[in-house]
Amino acid sequence: MEFIVFVETTDVLARIIFSALGPQKRLTPTDAWPELPRATWGAKDKEVLDLRLLARAVWPEIPDLQGLCANTGLPLADPDPWTRAEALGKLVLLALAEVQRWPAQARQALARVFPSTWALPAFRPRPLPRPPRTLAEAFHRLTKVGLSPRSAQWEYAQRVAQALNSNEVVLLEAGPGTGKTFGYLIPLLLALRNTSTRAVVATRTRTLQDQLWKKDLPWLEEHLGLRVERALLKGRENYLCLRRVQELEHQLIPEDIVAPLHVLAARSGDLDELGFLSEPWLIEGLRDRPWRCQGQRCRLWPHCPSRRAREAAHSAQLVVVNHALLGADWATENALLGPYDYLVVDEAHALASVLRESLGTELTPDVLPLILSEVRRVDIDPQRIHEINALEEEIRASHRDFWETVRGLIPSGRSRLKPEIANALLIAAEPLFHAIDALVRKLKAEAKEGEGDELINSLAGYRGDLFRILSPGPGEWVQWSNREEGVSLGVTPLDISLELAQDFWPRVRAGILTSATLAVQGNPQFLLSRLGLPGETPFASWLSPFSYECVRIAILDNVPEPDDPRYPQALAELLHHVAQKVAVKGMVLFTAKRALAAVRMHLKVPHLAQGWDGERDQLLRRFKSMPPPAFLLGLESFWEGVDLPGRELEILVIARLPFPHPAEPLLEAEAEKLRAQGRSDFRELSLPLAVLKLRQGLGRLVRTPTDRGVILIADPRLTSRPYRNAFLSALPIAPDTIHSLAELDVVLHAVFR
Ligand code: SF4
Repeated sequence: MEFIVFVETTDVLARIIFSALGPQKRLTPTDAWPELPRATWGAKDKEVLDLRLLARAVWPEIPDLQGLCANTGLPLADPDPWTRAEALGKLVLLALAEVQRWPAQARQALARVFPSTWALPAFRPRPLPRPPRTLAEAFHRLTKVGLSPRSAQWEYAQRVAQALNSNEVVLLEAGPGTGKTFGYLIPLLLALRNTSTRAVVATRTRTLQDQLWKKDLPWLEEHLGLRVERALLKGRENYLCLRRVQELEHQLIPEDIVAPLHVLAARSGDLDELGFLSEPWLIEGLRDRPWRCQGQRCRLWPHCPSRRAREAAHSAQLVVVNHALLGADWATENALLGPYDYLVVDEAHALASVLRESLGTELTPDVLPLILSEVRRVDIDPQRIHEINALEEEIRASHRDFWETVRGLIPSGRSRLKPEIANALLIAAEPLFHAIDALVRKLKAEAKEGEGDELINSLAGYRGDLFRILSPGPGEWVQWSNREEGVSLGVTPLDISLELAQDFWPRVRAGILTSATLAVQGNPQFLLSRLGLPGETPFASWLSPFSYECVRIAILDNVPEPDDPRYPQALAELLHHVAQKVAVKGMVLFTAKRALAAVRMHLKVPHLAQGWDGERDQLLRRFKSMPPPAFLLGLESFWEGVDLPGRELEILVIARLPFPHPAEPLLEAEAEKLRAQGRSDFRELSLPLAVLKLRQGLGRLVRTPTDRGVILIADPRLTSRPYRNAFLSALPIAPDTIHSLAELDVVLHAVFR
């Protein structure tokens, strides 16, 4: 953050606050916070309130002053000193209003931030309204506080309620704008009310998880009075280790970093909420990592953020997680979440692949050095330390040799590990296995009782994982390697549908699997079979209620096919042409980094490219502040979960039909299996995957009922290939086929005139 404001005396502080209160009484948080006049200060002269520290402690997710201005709507950087002073006063009040909602433990941690003479008002939960008795009553009440009635949402919610009541697993597809989040949350909250049942809601993206946790659930609780004990759980490495935060204090890390970290640890401890710290080495050092966690022996165990989060999740009635954590819970027989009755999976089109990954393993060269960095912390007889150090050095050397061998043997990109390479790597790993075994034995013998248990377990776990990757044992496993910017090795099960059918779904009393894209040509069979669900699983679908009146889709027949060497330049020129004709913002979706790089090389209009100008969240932030015309070139992570409404996105370009790469290890193995069974891997695998992905990508353009725009599909195969109907049926409106720039201009003019 770029500023520090010291309010030098309590008089000035008082003046700032009361200037904010002002005669006009414009500040709503003040009105919502009647205790303000009772906040006291001034026992000492020169009491100091550091607003940077305060802002970081209260809004740790905001990275800088610009973000703080945008988030609070306050002109904190205004050149006029009085405007700025008033804004700063309002900031103090906003912070106090926010803090008032925090639980006691978090407010205690604020003592480091506030002047000692300030008395914070006690936490008083707001009284809630009487809960509704029926779904209809709940919707009726919400329409009075701003929820616009939507028939599709109402039908959807009724279907969810029916599934929960009759213990069904159902697939519910609902296009953008249906309002499916409230559509499942409201019946779910009603089903949980006055019962001892438990529910898990799983999302794929962090954006949706944040929306559910920070906005939707609190809003529903406030307006419906349906308060259930709820928890948000992420993987343990997402949480701050409080012991590491305390250690920072001895490393001369400034108070304006340490104090907000203490406040964050006392609240959620969630590192995703840490926006003001950008140094990766510092963040990595703060993570809860199993190999350095002392578990119950840690003196901070009662306050440990990840322990608190796990415990809260275990006892909560409603737990919000991501797909990966749902998979990790399944892989550990509900050890993380405990048994639950209802499961709602949003963005369920991606569930099967995430669950499959959760049963696999992946290793990179940086894991073992991180584990080894903890050896020096183990309390060992000083006379034995040199032996431990020698063994540690032996591991480091054999680890380096092993990964050097890996780099020399595996091809670039992602590919399946050939059996002969896997065997060669297993032999190359022998010295590493021996060295790890020796250190584990030594640590067991020399470490004081209980000391180093986590380290020993992590070393043994690493050894086991590496062995499993190189020699996965019985069952259908795909061993793979990846050498792009870094290098990794992994193993993933080929097909988990049987395990899901026998072990996952029987644990669930009722399940709602929902997404904007579950079916291919109206049929959900492709996803059902991957999820291990029976073919007769109920499926219902609602189209997007958006009219698409101001939207056109154009298939560009005037560009070469994507594999043609002239394609990148042709697409770049086309984007240039569009930018000259209309001053709007566009996004181009690619399926391969190489293709994106080739187009970017020729592109002459303002743009941001994933992998060159930053990664997803950072790019989205920058793109929003760019004036039109501008293009955002995105890869895999931009095909879904990107929400750029209105003028933020008006042109969407699909750079090629999103067929999966045939050499993708899992796809290749699946295709081989299908072919061996005499089935068509194109029709039964590549095509449905591509259609589902195209539907996801198309959903990026229209996000609100008033959105307008043009979707350009820059792949002429859509006009000529026999499979085109599968894609055409995925389009929300009938497309135009464009043969020339003049025809394109007509389409652009029709929308942007
Ligand atoms: S229990 Fe583990 S993660 Fe928690 S504070 Fe202690 S060492 Fe850190």
